[in-house]
Amino acid sequence: MIKITDLQKLYRTEEVETVALNNLSIHVKSGEFVAVMGPSGCGKSTLLNIVGLLDDMEGGSYLFNGVEVARFNEKKRSQLRKHNIGFVFQSFNLIDELTVYENVELPLIYTKVPASERKKRVEEVLEKVQIMHRRNHFPQQLSGGQQQRVAVARAVVNRPKLILADEPTGNLDSKNGNEVMQLLTELNEAGTTIIMVTHSEHDSQYADRVIRMLDGQVIMETVG
Ligand code: ADP
Ligand code: ADP
Repeated sequence: MIKITDLQKLYRTEEVETVALNNLSIHVKSGEFVAVMGPSGCGKSTLLNIVGLLDDMEGGSYLFNGVEVARFNEKKRSQLRKHNIGFVFQSFNLIDELTVYENVELPLIYTKVPASERKKRVEEVLEKVQIMHRRNHFPQQLSGGQQQRVAVARAVVNRPKLILADEPTGNLDSKNGNEVMQLLTELNEAGTTIIMVTHSEHDSQYADRVIRMLDGQVIMETVG
């Protein structure tokens, strides 16, 4: 599904140039659950942003389902992203002014899914993450664990083939964290490919494979 070869990514400011990713190659097969680990600043978020087509790359090749996307412009990236990729972040990133229901419905509005179908799909995922009873509440009225379950619902409502999660349990206690990991595991077992950045050795045990990074490179891969 994902085949990245010799990826280079630099960040330039006036004086300094930071090499965020240096000649990095990764392959992820459809249906895999991969954890990405490594010290702060090693390039994990940068990698996830590039895999998720949120950011462009300097050099190298990126085949997404066999299509070269490395040189895609923002418009084409956004199109691919909306239909194929769901994102889960450490800080939930829900819209505070919208209800749970409206937050989850949003990706379907962006992809122009008709209203009747939207209702069906939103209710289905809210049931799945067991948050239906809070559908008319606002994010700030929910616990962290509940907010992350809503974020997972929003990530999967468009039925993406790929979920990218950046420290999804980072702001959760262990009970809520385990519930979110359980949810990701169920989605993976149903066929969704998952790439998850984590600092947690415990969470990495849910993955099929752990990729360890240092200074913008992959230094080790272990099978989980
Ligand atoms: P990690 O997610 O592993 O903590 P990041 O991908 O956030 O690492 O960062 C990798 C490197 O790139 C770090 O040295 C970081 O300071 C730098 N970096 C990340 N984003 C930017 C940016 N927008 N501008 C400049 N440097 C950045
Ligand atoms: P994380 O541990 O989740 O990677 P970071 O604090 O490293 O958190 O980075 C959060 C975001 O801030 C990154 O996605 C990146 O875009 C941005 N960032 C990180 N380092 C820098 C930097 N040196 N300059 C500008 N932006 C940065």
